[in-house]
Amino acid sequence: MENQNIKIKIQAEELKPIVSEEVLKFEEAKKPKIAIVSLTSCEGCQFALLDLGVKFVEAMSNVEMVDFRLLEDLEDDGGKLDVAFVEGNPMTAANKKTLLELRKRSKILVVLGNCAAMGGIPEIRNYHEQKQTVKHVYKYIQGIETEEVKEVDNFVDVDFTLPGCPITGEEFLEYLPMLLESAMTGKSLPEIVDKPVCIECKANGNRCLLLDKKPCFGPMILGGCNSVCTNSGMGCQGCRGLRPAGNVKAMKATLKTMISDEEFENTTEIYGLRDDIEEWEKKHNSNQ
Ligand code: SF4
Ligand code: SF4
Ligand code: SF4
Repeated sequence: MENQNIKIKIQAEELKPIVSEEVLKFEEAKKPKIAIVSLTSCEGCQFALLDLGVKFVEAMSNVEMVDFRLLEDLEDDGGKLDVAFVEGNPMTAANKKTLLELRKRSKILVVLGNCAAMGGIPEIRNYHEQKQTVKHVYKYIQGIETEEVKEVDNFVDVDFTLPGCPITGEEFLEYLPMLLESAMTGKSLPEIVDKPVCIECKANGNRCLLLDKKPCFGPMILGGCNSVCTNSGMGCQGCRGLRPAGNVKAMKATLKTMISDEEFENTTEIYGLRDDIEEWEKKHNSNQ
């Protein structure tokens, strides 16, 4: 019996190089092609993926990774893609060229994170010194390109958004198979369920900060981050963006007893929420 086992093992070892090379090529050709590309950003959303560790590696074994410069330095072949993930803001001419090319190459384009989706922290400069902001970094600012910060969807069509600053790695793993399926079969794109941060906050057993007159945007913000901020006693500042059913008017009325209008506005600038709130108000006030 022992000898038979050894024989089977030897045969398997002998077959492996022949089978694996051909099968691997065939299997590789069938895999969906993806790219994870960064524009101007802190790269924190990409690191949120790497932080997944083995789970990320396992998920990537089902795809052909064409570009992800945090993991490999092979040249992108410039060919067709099934799903492209884009992090950061298109700030420079080179960023915009990359983005437009990526859109042309991809069946599905997904934005990763608050900067790409909402302008993020860099958008603060739109509300204040604009082109003058660079003077805090460089002594001579003549000739330095500093344009208004605009989100990715100002330049190309976006199919899906993974929100947050940074994104939630587990959410990436949850939606990746659905996005790949949509790209491969034409099935309709998934949607993130419209639920406020409060749902996870309550499930995590937190006492509501509003009860202690501490400001929190949770009720109007899209959940899915496991309420990481409120779990640590910090109010939600809205990095995942407004919920489709979020009620800005009710939120503002609640917070009026805790913070001034100016403080409210300043907080909405942290994650690029201010222009979305202005848009919401324009839409809802004109409907009244
Ligand atoms: S969304 Fe946040 S973590 Fe992601 S690139 Fe922008 S600043 Fe960095
Ligand atoms: S602390 Fe914020 S997120 Fe939590 S229940 Fe209260 S309002 Fe909602
Ligand atoms: S609690 Fe609010 S600010 Fe914090 S990660 Fe979640 S959505 Fe972003």
